[in-house]
Amino acid sequence: MATIDIATLDPAKTVVVATGNAHKVVEIEAILAPAMPGVRFVALGELGDFPDPVEDGQTFFDNALIKARAAQRETGLAMAVADDSGLCVDALDGAPGIYSARWAGEHGNDAANNEKLVRLMEGVPEDARTARFHSSVVLVRGDDVLHGDGDCEGVVGFEPRGEHGFGYDPLFLPAETPGRTMAELTLGEKNQISHRFHALEDLAAKL
Ligand code: IMP
Repeated sequence: MATIDIATLDPAKTVVVATGNAHKVVEIEAILAPAMPGVRFVALGELGDFPDPVEDGQTFFDNALIKARAAQRETGLAMAVADDSGLCVDALDGAPGIYSARWAGEHGNDAANNEKLVRLMEGVPEDARTARFHSSVVLVRGDDVLHGDGDCEGVVGFEPRGEHGFGYDPLFLPAETPGRTMAELTLGEKNQISHRFHALEDLAAKL
């Protein structure tokens, strides 16, 4: 349900954030706002119930652009930002990659996705378990497209651990926090090393 009337927003001073995840809105605003003074960030969901676009791109960038353009079209606002991210596992030739959310079939079934990852990584030795989270963030301003990319390097664990975060966090041990899974980090700790953080910093540097 809409909590903000689009007609009350200044199109020159509003960025619509194309995500249903409230944490992402906070993270995106925290990093981009200093580079865009006077601009207000609003979540797409605050403006109405819009259908999710079909993410049929071949890359993270393609899918982030599809989401940003859809938010622009649906709201009539000039500026929109979206991200697309996923886990790329070396021993699985980069899978699940852009298919991370729906890898085990149903979109967003984290438990099933993690079970599949544990199963496919059975027998893969410690030193061959390298992986990275990748994020591509796209900001559209009218016809202009700006984008940033970021990675978080690490390894895939043998069994899930930790209660925080979402997605593959319980099975991913960032190289920067040895011995701890992403799901064992606080949100603040995760936000300092995450792929999204690096992608947003990359984008902010271009603003
Ligand atoms: P999205 O593009 O951010 O919606 O992410 C797509 C999928 O990638 C999610 O459903 C997760 O499975 C995975 N993913 C992306 N970012 C993260 C993360 O920070 N932690 C864990 N899994 C993630």
